Amino acid sequence: MARNTGVSCRLCRRENLKLYLKGDRCYGDKCAFERRPYPPGMHGQGRGGKFSDYQVQLREKQKVKRLYGVLERQFRRYYELAEKQKGVTGTNLLTMLECRMDNAVYRMGFASSRDQARQLIRHNHFLVNEKKVNIPSYQVKVGDVVEVRENRRKVPVILEAMETVVRRGVPNWIEMDRDSFKGTLKALPGRQDITIPIQENLIVELYSK
Ligand code: SF4
Repeated sequence: MARNTGVSCRLCRRENLKLYLKGDRCYGDKCAFERRPYPPGMHGQGRGGKFSDYQVQLREKQKVKRLYGVLERQFRRYYELAEKQKGVTGTNLLTMLECRMDNAVYRMGFASSRDQARQLIRHNHFLVNEKKVNIPSYQVKVGDVVEVRENRRKVPVILEAMETVVRRGVPNWIEMDRDSFKGTLKALPGRQDITIPIQENLIVELYSK
């Protein structure tokens, strides 16, 4: 599937937010956003001023798409599904994004970024409820057990990610059994569980036009 392959750090600087797209590097002093917290390009530091409502809404949508690594068409589809569900559309949208398999694998600490999680999933490193799943967008449901396949438990990037996950922690809607390389979705993540600064109401406003 086509994917935005632009330089990850530029995306963080563009969105004025650490999107944690590069795993370990994001936590060290090599993080480009920490060193240059202004938009990329020749006039990056000079940008500012007033933005229209539309520009602000568009930026917020781009930020969330980039954070979760989702392309426009798929993101729109999530929005349409979120609108049809009971409850608050913006929260439904974020919950669906959090329950993507690539995000779950990242949150469980089996990968150090969502991008790395996508690669590992595509390469058949995981089971869900003991069945092979290699689709990053697969929606993990409450009670589902995500597990590193037995013959993949010595893969260095997985072991490294499991070592370093302590820096960001595992959210409380996930239960981990590190010894057996398993993570269980205990509950759907609620709005209060998603601590990234996102104003999802702006995305709803954008798509409601
Ligand atoms: Fe973003 Fe990570 Fe690059 Fe920092 S190192 S700018 S958080 S992708």
